[in-house]
Amino acid sequence: MRALVKYAPGPGNVELRDVPRPQPGPGQVLIDVAFAGVCGTDRSALDGHFAGLIPRTLGHEASGIVAELGPGLRADLAVGDRVTFETDAYLCGTCRYCRAEQYQRCPHRKGIGTTADGALADSLVMPELAVHRLPDGVSLLAAALTEPLAICVHAVIERSPSLAGEVVIVTGPGAIGALTSAVATQVGATTVLVGRSRHAAQLADALDRGIADHALDGDSVDVGAYVAGLTDGYGAHSAFECSAAHEWPSRLQPMLQRGGRLVLVALYHGDPPVNFDLLVNREHEIVGSRGKNAQSYRTALRLMADGRIDAESFISEVLPLERWSDGLDLVAKGRKVVFQVAGTTPQ
Ligand SMILES: [Zn+2]
Ligand SMILES: [Zn+2]
Repeated sequence: MRALVKYAPGPGNVELRDVPRPQPGPGQVLIDVAFAGVCGTDRSALDGHFAGLIPRTLGHEASGIVAELGPGLRADLAVGDRVTFETDAYLCGTCRYCRAEQYQRCPHRKGIGTTADGALADSLVMPELAVHRLPDGVSLLAAALTEPLAICVHAVIERSPSLAGEVVIVTGPGAIGALTSAVATQVGATTVLVGRSRHAAQLADALDRGIADHALDGDSVDVGAYVAGLTDGYGAHSAFECSAAHEWPSRLQPMLQRGGRLVLVALYHGDPPVNFDLLVNREHEIVGSRGKNAQSYRTALRLMADGRIDAESFISEVLPLERWSDGLDLVAKGRKVVFQVAGTTPQ
């Protein structure tokens, strides 16, 4: 079968290879991949910043069809089921985090696309615990975005709850920022999505689609003054930093109300500055939001099934897997690319 493999360290060294089709072991499910998205992590592998084990099949955002069930499976799954899956290829299942379904915190966790083989392949095996059957009305294409949507659900609903009626800032209008703004809008927050001048099209699009209440060019607009104007001068309840730009955490701090919360959704590859005096004096909280868990997936699937989040509308391009190189180039330009992996268009 085909698999997009990072086969050596350094820049490049990624190719579509012919590899053996995996076999499901005890408690595992073999899934034929229908659609698989790519994000900055997969692009980083091409740029030479790959933190995983090598050689490794990339990809961790996908949907597919159950092809085979391993022995001893307890989950209510059948061959032919339409599914998506969490990114955990291995969980110890016994630590206090696993027992609370906080799989993103398991110290022994192995993730697909980094420390285990990923979803940019014709098939992959996943533990039954990681697999979610798709609700009716959620297409396989939409379901390829369950993982990024679940990341935003985790940040907004699980890491900064009770946002109804509050003003929140979201920085970075890429796929994660746009989905974060969309989820915050759905839970009743007034959202201010902030980008750079070069993001003018994405910002206008977010306003048009109703996934942000306000969209600002942070290069030319005084975002703090704008947010003060929306909040009687108090500042935002929460800010979700999704851009990974090192300037944003400390730039957002003075825009928060006293007791406000800064949620870091991006990964920084370094140490952005933090104003600790401001943090103490205004009793701010800085919260990390890493990945997602089983509940984030259930909520993400519910938001899609109920039509509250139109996941397909967040996809910029659908390309055949053979065009992986073009796809990863588009990711570098901030586009959300999904590869069609299955030969015929799956439903
Ligand atoms: Zn991703
Ligand atoms: Zn564990």
